[in-house]
Amino acid sequence: MTAQPLALAVDLGGTTYGLGLLDRQGTLLAQDSRPTPQDCTGEALLTELAMGARRLAEAQAPGAALAGLGVGIPGPVDPASGTIRQCPNLHCLDGVNAVEHLSRAAGVPAYIGNDAFCATLAELRYGAGRECDNMVMLTLGTGVGGGIALGNRVLRGPRQIMGEVGHLIVVPEGGPKCGCGNHGCLEALVGRQAIVDAAVSRLEAGEASALMHEAVSGYDHITPRHVADLAREGDHLCLEIMDQVGMYVGLAICNIIVLCDPDQVVLGGGIAAAGDVLFEPIRRTVAHRSRISGFDPARIVPAELGNLAGVYGAGALVWEHTDA
Ligand SMILES: [Zn+2]
Repeated sequence: MTAQPLALAVDLGGTTYGLGLLDRQGTLLAQDSRPTPQDCTGEALLTELAMGARRLAEAQAPGAALAGLGVGIPGPVDPASGTIRQCPNLHCLDGVNAVEHLSRAAGVPAYIGNDAFCATLAELRYGAGRECDNMVMLTLGTGVGGGIALGNRVLRGPRQIMGEVGHLIVVPEGGPKCGCGNHGCLEALVGRQAIVDAAVSRLEAGEASALMHEAVSGYDHITPRHVADLAREGDHLCLEIMDQVGMYVGLAICNIIVLCDPDQVVLGGGIAAAGDVLFEPIRRTVAHRSRISGFDPARIVPAELGNLAGVYGAGALVWEHTDA
């Protein structure tokens, strides 16, 4: 039995969802993850999330007071009305008033946030940004997302697009096509597919690389992880690819610095796990190309909460709305 109230947290993904139970200090008291139900209605899915979170609380902290339920959504949301605008991997949730349904199913106040918003909030409150008020987060993975925190609050803007750094244009002409329909966006240059495409086109052109060992049964077996691992071992081609990725991410960060004046830039997502082979060219680019800002490239740091950022952020949503 816990005396202080706890927050229920759900990090919804297209294939799995994470559950968590957090206290106000951000201690994750329990967590779990389950496959996301497919082929059901949006209401049935939300009911399962709410009940799953309640069951976790009942098992881990029976009788505890519950302050609320926070849910991170993999798509744009309208926090004011509580509606999910669009959920690209879970279309059953398109247009659903999630807050109304979740709070009824859970029996406690419910709050929703976009997943990038939740990850940024998590790092700001409990992770790499906890010592600063002004932080920009970039998540480098299959897609490129992000979030901006100024004055110790994560901002999204009236149309909820603030922090969509994946669509910063870093190649003005002739860049690769982005999923958004534009050309030369950061995501089209450093997202998962861009890294694989860069490697494959150079192997097909006959360049030598240990990456060929991964491609014996087909180029589609190559992943950004292979490229990063071999770059760390000194493979020339892989180092050049990571250098190029770092250069584009660094340019985007230079632009972000003069727009937001952050204390810190936090990099999360699977591709940021590459470590020094990525951080070194990013910091080098910022050192050379962001001269007026005086921004110390050492303040570009890895995220700390990893895959649990979504659960921490969903729990933090509750505390953002609850007075101490
Ligand atoms: Zn784009």
